[in-house]
Amino acid sequence: MKKIIIALAAFVLLVTPAIAADRDDKKDNGHDEKHWSYEGDTGPANWGDFSKTCATGKAQSPINIVRSDVITGHLAPIDFHYNDHAKNVVNNGHGIQLNLKKGSYIVVDGERFDLLQFHFHSPSEEQLNGTNQDMVAHLVHQSAKDQLAVVAVLFNAGNKNDVLKSIWEKMPSRAGDKESLGSFDVAAMLPENKAYYHFMGSLTTPPCSENVKWYVLQKTVSVGSKQLSAFRKLYYHTNRPVQALNGRVIVSGN
Ligand SMILES: [Zn+2]
Repeated sequence: MKKIIIALAAFVLLVTPAIAADRDDKKDNGHDEKHWSYEGDTGPANWGDFSKTCATGKAQSPINIVRSDVITGHLAPIDFHYNDHAKNVVNNGHGIQLNLKKGSYIVVDGERFDLLQFHFHSPSEEQLNGTNQDMVAHLVHQSAKDQLAVVAVLFNAGNKNDVLKSIWEKMPSRAGDKESLGSFDVAAMLPENKAYYHFMGSLTTPPCSENVKWYVLQKTVSVGSKQLSAFRKLYYHTNRPVQALNGRVIVSGN
């Protein structure tokens, strides 16, 4: 037992500085130094061991978006102000993440949310009418008041995606590694039509913190099947199961 504890401690010591070195990583999608995973004893069913909210929260993400239940809202379009100033591509041990320089932001409900990073899950965490899509990008934003807003872009296998190419060329295969990437056209990754589903939810990884504004773009974009398999060689089944709505409403916006 002692050996296991020492081995675990060594793992945490080795892995944590690499992850914590980048300040922005602290603001990522709930990644912390604890060794949660997507399967077995440390998988989603036991994330309550890492953070109580994962087990007891009543507004958790991801969710299944049943289109017939969506309330047609008159929510204003998301006002995107994305530039192409990137920093690096990181393999953080849970997925592939692009860290960004400051300057990209969205405005929703009159409030500015700065884009910190985005990362991918495959298959998608969100379901549309009960079906997971092939991949999703979560664009994580934060307001001056520390409120989080995530924009989700869904991908399905189809034509090769030229926008993703530069990230895919740099994806480090080893956890903890990063490669610099000076520019990336974030806006070009979004579908042309930016209608969205909005609901309140949480981070989809421990600590599963709630009060996160979610904006899932309705239109999917394509990812090449070779691109998809290259990603899945590194990370596959990195999707938390869908969580109960518990009375939450999903509203559509333009
Ligand atoms: Zn995510």
